[in-house]
Amino acid sequence: MHADDRVVQDTDPLRPTQGRGGPAVGSWVWLPTETLQPLIDVLRTDGMRVIGPQVADGAVVYRDLAEAGDLPVGWIDEQDGGHYRLQHDPEAGFFDHVVGPHSLKNFLFPARETIGHFLREDGTWRQVEDLPEEPPLAVIGVRGCDLAGLAIQDRVFLGGEAVDPGYHRRRESLFLVAVNCRRAAATCFCHSTGCGPAASAGFDLCLTEFPGRFACEVGSERGAAVLAKLQEKVPLIACTDSERAAAAEQSERLEQAMHARQRVAGEPAPRSLNTEGIRDLLYDNLEHPRWEEVATRCLSCTNCTLVCPTCFCSSVSEVADLSGDAVQRERHWASCFTLDHARMHGTSVRSSTASRYRQWLTHKLAGWIDQFGTSGCTGCGRCITWCPVGIDITEEVAAIRATSPHDEGA
Ligand code: SF4
Ligand code: SF4
Repeated sequence: MHADDRVVQDTDPLRPTQGRGGPAVGSWVWLPTETLQPLIDVLRTDGMRVIGPQVADGAVVYRDLAEAGDLPVGWIDEQDGGHYRLQHDPEAGFFDHVVGPHSLKNFLFPARETIGHFLREDGTWRQVEDLPEEPPLAVIGVRGCDLAGLAIQDRVFLGGEAVDPGYHRRRESLFLVAVNCRRAAATCFCHSTGCGPAASAGFDLCLTEFPGRFACEVGSERGAAVLAKLQEKVPLIACTDSERAAAAEQSERLEQAMHARQRVAGEPAPRSLNTEGIRDLLYDNLEHPRWEEVATRCLSCTNCTLVCPTCFCSSVSEVADLSGDAVQRERHWASCFTLDHARMHGTSVRSSTASRYRQWLTHKLAGWIDQFGTSGCTGCGRCITWCPVGIDITEEVAAIRATSPHDEGA
């Protein structure tokens, strides 16, 4: 046990932690909701670009955040297949919405990024090292499923021989303030994938919301350093053992309800995904008639891949100026739902929607395991919500499992 942990656990609950150099990693402190603004100020004073959830364009999205008042307090999101609607709820706290269309992917692996500049001088091309400096990112409101998505993208962009320089740069300085979910949407199935609803690792600070205050777990030395600076502005109170237990219990209750597929706080029951033997189930069913059936509904619109926090396909194009002497190399998101994505030798090897949907789902839930040692799905449910025709990955797998000659409806 860390010395500071002992202080936190044995101390009078009202004893401030001031004067001890800030709370230690692994300790918990209370942050009244009014401390969100000073927390944002500390991060910004440290030179970070702070991102947080905000209501915009009818959804909760990540945006630059300077004012705690811009957080979506009092809003919840109703989600289902092809359906997203914000609702005002006077009982809702700062983070009672769940995940929106944005994820950490939008910032670490942006949809469009300039990755090189080239100039032609005296008949030869030279690369110009003038890519803009980016401030370190701090993201507030990250969920357990998104931390899992980040860990998966880390394997993709950093885990092999080729390390992606832009992702690496942003990831190294990333500061994460996670939130433990208090409610689940009908599209959530993070309990099935083991990615939520609690944020278990990979954060600097993690908030569990209670009326008027947050129990804040310190997850890293950087998190402790930020709280030490916050403590210079506002007194911090250590959580007692029973208060920590109450915070953990809040997440456990939600997880149990999700496993039992119960309605939580009036919400429809969340979805679930049976992941047992899923790799072999999908590889054994490449000719299953369900692929043709889903293709009668799928528009090949690419939405599911764009909102998925782990999809990583991209394409690179070079854009010349009018003189032809300056070229910008740009990387942009691509999708396996487009014909061009599988174009080889002048033709697409996945010319049907059925083959493209099969590619996406089978790669996500089976091929990914072979490539990266993990499923590509965190159970965030975004692909279900943002599919315009409400195609549901959990329903498609269940339909294949139910009629698989290799899997007798397990
Ligand atoms: S496949 Fe769907 S549920 Fe799974 S991580 Fe991607 S968007 Fe989320
Ligand atoms: S599954 Fe839905 S979101 Fe994905 S490409 Fe098909 S229609 Fe679009």
